[in-house]
Amino acid sequence: MDNNLLWSNFLQIVKTKISPVSYDTWFKDTKIIKQDNNILSIQVPMVFHKKFLNETYYDLIDEIITNLIGNSFDLEFITEEEINDEDDELTKDTVDNEYTRINSNLNPKYTFENFVIGDSNRFAQTAAVAVAEQPGKIYNPLFIHGKSGLGKTHLMHAIGNYVLQNNNKKILYVTSEEFISDFIGINKKDENNFPVIEHFKEKYRKIDVLIIDDIQFLGGAEKTQQEFFHTFNNLYNSNKQIIISSDRSPDDLKLLEDRLRTRFRWGLTVDIYPPDFELRCKILKDKMTGHEVANLVNKEVIEYIATNCENDVRHLEGAITRLYAYAAIMGPDEINLNFAVEALKDYIGTSLYITNNITKIQKAVADYYKITIDDLKNKKRTANINLPRQIAIYLCRMTTEETIVKIGLEFGNRNHSTVLHAYDKINNELKINNELKEEINEIKNMIVN
Ligand code: ADP
Ligand code: MG
Repeated sequence: MDNNLLWSNFLQIVKTKISPVSYDTWFKDTKIIKQDNNILSIQVPMVFHKKFLNETYYDLIDEIITNLIGNSFDLEFITEEEINDEDDELTKDTVDNEYTRINSNLNPKYTFENFVIGDSNRFAQTAAVAVAEQPGKIYNPLFIHGKSGLGKTHLMHAIGNYVLQNNNKKILYVTSEEFISDFIGINKKDENNFPVIEHFKEKYRKIDVLIIDDIQFLGGAEKTQQEFFHTFNNLYNSNKQIIISSDRSPDDLKLLEDRLRTRFRWGLTVDIYPPDFELRCKILKDKMTGHEVANLVNKEVIEYIATNCENDVRHLEGAITRLYAYAAIMGPDEINLNFAVEALKDYIGTSLYITNNITKIQKAVADYYKITIDDLKNKKRTANINLPRQIAIYLCRMTTEETIVKIGLEFGNRNHSTVLHAYDKINNELKINNELKEEINEIKNMIVN
């Protein structure tokens, strides 16, 4: 059987054996690269998939492949980058959802299904799915950090909701403020003269998954930190899953005791970055769909909002709410750019100019070399695109305050060393190549005007 056919048969079968979220996360973007010497090489999107597929799905893949072609292969997982450089079903017990949900503090609104994925959050989302599928087994604790409004709380609830649906497990979601307030008064007795501390232990230690949001607020509260430390150890030692979020990395949680920070690093730490332009558009489209006026919205409106609300997803959601509220009042025939500018004038200012400097530079470079912004972002390495891309990266480094990570993200998720390499290359070239200097000056003029 030819590789493509084999894999598409395989995918159809595996799809029936695991949940849609698992399928999308682990299998959707895979394919067979080659088949030789009894080794089947499968391309996967990220390094992360290699470990997870090996540990969780190896047997299942092996079984299906063996059934399809009659003999077993050794499986090898490789990422696209590596190529360039050269189970089991979950136990689905039914649980009393309604009851558990109220006690879990989970918000059913936040799920994996409505979490839109892009380069800036893909790693965090993948890790979250891994934990949701195997709570307490592989990444413990899972520590998610990133600035406000980037989806940490959403992902944590999504994990909780997933576990609730697929596993008979007790879950508790709390913010660190709730944890603190539960802890205060722990030495008192309740109306039946029963020590409150017993309620506390009951609540926090008899669970399978503890989700604690915004741990940075625990800083300073020393006694609470101690109690959290005990709770953590207790759960951890009995292989219960702990999921923590914070607005900064464990190392930057200066107010927390060292021993807590050390423990946070035992598992997996993932960060979420601000969404790039492409993801902002995707999120806007996703969130706009379903609304009664959604089909009145022009494409340029999406781009206008995505360009002007750069920093976080909450900002994007606010823009949609305002736009739709304004539309409800005005009853427009179509929601075009003028309408959006009017509706959002107090929210994102009146400027029609592109405020994101990276986007501006990309546009100028693309126009100058008669290529598209997509060319700059994709993985193609042909010379006519490579040079413009390096020039654009160089200009971003030279003329904006953006971090290397952000620049890399806006250029199709390129890594740190690629960005630095592009910069060095152009920087050196400029010392000897006057023609290039001229070109870059012309581009700079286009950006200013
Ligand atoms: P954080 O906890 O990081 O401050 P939230 O999880 O509260 O951020 O996210 C803010 C809002 O943005 C929420 O309404 C959430 O649903 C939404 N959101 C964030 N990221 C995404 C995403 N990738 N897809 C869909 N909605 C998102
Ligand atoms: Mg949050």
